[in-house]
Amino acid sequence: MPVYDLDSAPGRAPLIDPFGRDITYLRVSVTDRCDFRCVYCMAEHMTFLPKADLLTLEELDRLCSAFVARGVRKLRLTGGEPLVRRGIMTLFSSLSRHLASGRLDEITLTTNGSQLARYAGELKAHGVRRVNVSLDTLDAEKFRAITRWGALDQVLAGIDAAQAAGLKIKINTVALKGVNEDEFPRLIEWAHGRGMDLTLIEVMPLGDIGEGRLDQYLPLSLVRARLGGRFSLAELDDRTGGPARYVRVAETGGRLGFITPLTHNFCESCNRVRVTCTGTLYMCLGQEDAADLRQPLRASEGNDLLFAAIDEAIARKPKGHDFIIDRRHRRPALARHMNVTGG
Ligand code: SAM
Ligand code: SF4
Repeated sequence: MPVYDLDSAPGRAPLIDPFGRDITYLRVSVTDRCDFRCVYCMAEHMTFLPKADLLTLEELDRLCSAFVARGVRKLRLTGGEPLVRRGIMTLFSSLSRHLASGRLDEITLTTNGSQLARYAGELKAHGVRRVNVSLDTLDAEKFRAITRWGALDQVLAGIDAAQAAGLKIKINTVALKGVNEDEFPRLIEWAHGRGMDLTLIEVMPLGDIGEGRLDQYLPLSLVRARLGGRFSLAELDDRTGGPARYVRVAETGGRLGFITPLTHNFCESCNRVRVTCTGTLYMCLGQEDAADLRQPLRASEGNDLLFAAIDEAIARKPKGHDFIIDRRHRRPALARHMNVTGG
């Protein structure tokens, strides 16, 4: 596909927000569609966006490249399920030129793993080194109940294929009250036994998914206290600018992360922004304020309008977020779904 040539573009200033934070990490949702219907993420019957609203693969490449030109060093493709987007390997392939040029440190993805067996080799060939795979349970029936449409075997085969291809895997597990809370020790031992980090994620109040969110909410402070009774957890200092806090599990030697987006513990070091599959830029996962980048992308072939829109948006990046689960109304604090902004 035709690609935007960064090397012929004039030098551009890095993106620094009003609080002095360098924006070096971009997460891009490449589709709102998915082959699963996880209960905490989607309703069973979803209406997806019309194709014309989605950025084309060429537009996604141009958009990502514009951010790379402005100092973004890490790209994460997400969704929806990124690996169900038709032709997605051409995007990985074209973006890999920024790895080769040294402008990007990393291209990675977050996936449900269902298509990994098919794509692991190609991902590796396009310079991907690490993949986050979401997996909430090792019990096939429970897996089906949580994902509604997914098959555990297929995901496990995907993880096998990815490891065989030489990709480093991190497992993400959403902590769900009364659903998988009894499985965390087993999941930790399984993941660490295979050389994979595991991160537990607190369920977030995003999107109306037709079920009581309060029923799923399990505070990770409680999970951590319980795990502390079973394992020796040593606090680690590795902060990646991201929301995870890590501990080393003495018994397994592996790393365990905790992502608690409901508590304000990472906004100060936030280096990231997100773009949806329609080109809407969210400066903060927990705030509604957004900027449309599709219009400037489509308005001209040059990138001046796009850069101007990005600059204007970054100047509005808020200091932090303010998630609440609305207990009186049992409503999500934010109406958009996770598959739109990406995790
Ligand atoms: N489909 C891919 C996957 O599942 O990994 C990528 C997109 S998914 C939206 C990204 C991450 O967000 C997954 O780890 C998923 O478990 C997590 N997620 C989705 N909805 C969530 C919610 N309401 N609260 C917390 N995590 C959520
Ligand atoms: Fe799909 Fe990922 Fe959402 Fe599950 S969490 S429905 S796999 S986008």
